[in-house]
Amino acid sequence: MDKNHPNYDAERVGFQTRISHRPDLIVPATTPEDVRRAVAGAAADGLPIAVQATGHGLPVPATGGLLITTSRMNAVTVDPATATARIEAGVRWDRVIEAAAEHGLAPLSGSSPAVGAVSYTLGGGIGLLARRYGYAADQVRAVDVVTADAEPRHVTPDSDPDLFWALVGGRGRFGVVTALEIGLVPVERLYGGGLYFDTDLVEPALRTWHEWTRTLPEEMTSSIAIIPFPDVPQAPFPGRTVAHLRIACTGDPQEGEELVRPLRAIGPRLLDTVAEMPYTDSASIHNDPTEPAGYYATHTLLRDLPVEPLLGVRGVVEVRHLGGALAKPQSVPNSVGNRDALYFATVLTPGLAPGADLREVRPVHEAVRDALSPWSTGGRALNFLYGEQATPEEVRKAYEPEDYERLTALKAQWDPANLFGAL
Ligand SMILES: Cc1cc2nc3c(=O)[nH]c(=O)nc-3n(C[C@H](O)[C@H](O)[C@H](O)COP(=O)(O)OP(=O)(O)OC[C@H]3O[C@@H](n4cnc5c(N)ncnc54)[C@H](O)[C@@H]3O)c2cc1C
Repeated sequence: MDKNHPNYDAERVGFQTRISHRPDLIVPATTPEDVRRAVAGAAADGLPIAVQATGHGLPVPATGGLLITTSRMNAVTVDPATATARIEAGVRWDRVIEAAAEHGLAPLSGSSPAVGAVSYTLGGGIGLLARRYGYAADQVRAVDVVTADAEPRHVTPDSDPDLFWALVGGRGRFGVVTALEIGLVPVERLYGGGLYFDTDLVEPALRTWHEWTRTLPEEMTSSIAIIPFPDVPQAPFPGRTVAHLRIACTGDPQEGEELVRPLRAIGPRLLDTVAEMPYTDSASIHNDPTEPAGYYATHTLLRDLPVEPLLGVRGVVEVRHLGGALAKPQSVPNSVGNRDALYFATVLTPGLAPGADLREVRPVHEAVRDALSPWSTGGRALNFLYGEQATPEEVRKAYEPEDYERLTALKAQWDPANLFGAL
């Protein structure tokens, strides 16, 4: 499909509408063989290759070259005997959640079930149950990938430990992944939902949540968002700045309720949806936007959380509590870095038009980052390096220094022409 094709725009634009790929050619893939042929053709012509499933994680957009879209590759099969799922490249989390739930299982999905499961997992994957079960990447059992030599490969930790290690954590830099085999966890129900506090309780909510996170068992994964809602009737809380605490607790619901008690004591809630729920309802915990949108977001990984820099920010602030299983050594090594971070803080500016000028937006983000810098680990989370921030310098910060060296060596071996972009 070239630029003159009537479906060119529909095929290249994804969830992030501020920026989008503008390739010379698009291959809408439906099978692994489509992917293999596309990689072979691009390699022969020296065309750079970009891949898009949903567009939720767009790094620097492609200008020219080939874009392979995978949204039509969306088969999911669950093997309850081994508690694993095989997911094709274009599968979104919602399909995996539904398929796993039929067997009393759940994937390590994230805040939005509309995100692509494969890329989320290859970039780490900080999910709703992250403190209990670790990174989604830690559950990868096998990777089906077409490498730069246009060879389809089934890569496991035993068949090729180096390539497996690089693929899982390296996201799209080592090939086009056509399917993943992932482990599922035995979670059918949660104690979870959202607590919403009005403007006057935003600061107490942030302070209390921060103190509270110091005391928690791994069963509790939580986050807080401070959301200035626009003053329009369709907004959930028009004209108010709201603190939204998100709760996902595995285990006994009564223990979950006991753990959440100090948060409910912050004061009256505008809304309180925290209750026992099936994992299939877990999208309601964060209530992420479902419609494509234009936004700019930056993040900082933190050792501890200062409160002041996050108050009064012009934009949406979100802080996720990390640690727990995220910090533990994994049984099968992968290249996901920065496991020492205890908090993930992000600032998001919504409502940006396609190609929006960022001159007024960037200083807001830089001011927060500067204010947080004394507490920063210096690291980045690859999955959240969007758009123009996905520079080589920033991507490098997603890894431990020695791991980055190892990735660089493996990149030279597996993709010497940087067909899938420089590391
Ligand atoms: C609303 C929202 C909520 C989110 N929540 C979370 C969360 O809770 N936890 C978390 O960790 N992340 C989260 N993210 C980030 C998200 O997981 C990553 O950005 C992820 O890369 C998105 O994958 P995608 O396929 O949906 O996006 P895409 O933009 O389609 O893909 C992102 C990139 O991944 C690579 N890629 C995609 N498919 C393949 C493939 N088959 N083979 C090789 N490379 C490929 C490409 O480089 C592509 O540019 C969220 C993002 C958004 C917008």
